[in-house]
Amino acid sequence: MSGARAVFVDRDGTVNALVPDPETGRPESPLRPGDVVLIPGAAGALRKLAEAGWLVVGVSNQPAAAKGTVSPHRLAEVRARVLELLAAEGARLDDSRVCLHHPEGVVPELTRECECRKPAPGMLLDAAKDLGIDLKRSWMIGDTDSDVLAGKAAGCRTVLIAHQPSAHKRAGSARPDAVAPDLGAAVTLLLSAELVD
Ligand SMILES: [Mg+2]
Ligand SMILES: [Zn+2]
Repeated sequence: MSGARAVFVDRDGTVNALVPDPETGRPESPLRPGDVVLIPGAAGALRKLAEAGWLVVGVSNQPAAAKGTVSPHRLAEVRARVLELLAAEGARLDDSRVCLHHPEGVVPELTRECECRKPAPGMLLDAAKDLGIDLKRSWMIGDTDSDVLAGKAAGCRTVLIAHQPSAHKRAGSARPDAVAPDLGAAVTLLLSAELVD
């Protein structure tokens, strides 16, 4: 029996919008629940995947706590807010994984090289083991080269989202299977690619 099909989905810049960092002005992950705004069409896209029988698994790097910028508690509140906004539009994740580590952090217990921080595939591999996912039948969708590299390292196909505010996180060398302007378009593409497989 083959395993389940899953779509691994990045969070910031894929499901919810990036927000300007208060100090640098650069688009970054929201660090307060009130700053969370879903990207139009994202919730509908996740709903469509679920309706088509795909598992949907969130995989997100959240290094701000390791860097001492916010508390892990605040990150958990932001995460809860994303899920709440998705639920309000009838969308949910079957599982979600977060890497809180960073190799150059300041908080000792979160500062290390880990196997879960994308581009490493640890979060995808762990979820696959826990949920019985067949990685070769699965996809990774995200807005940075790291997402594509993590997906490929796990043996998945990949869609890179060309979200404008995160353009600085795409160097053009990651070689995704497809590029889409947003999650809605990525899911449409994925579902049509699966039809011809
Ligand atoms: Mg992202
Ligand atoms: Zn990690």
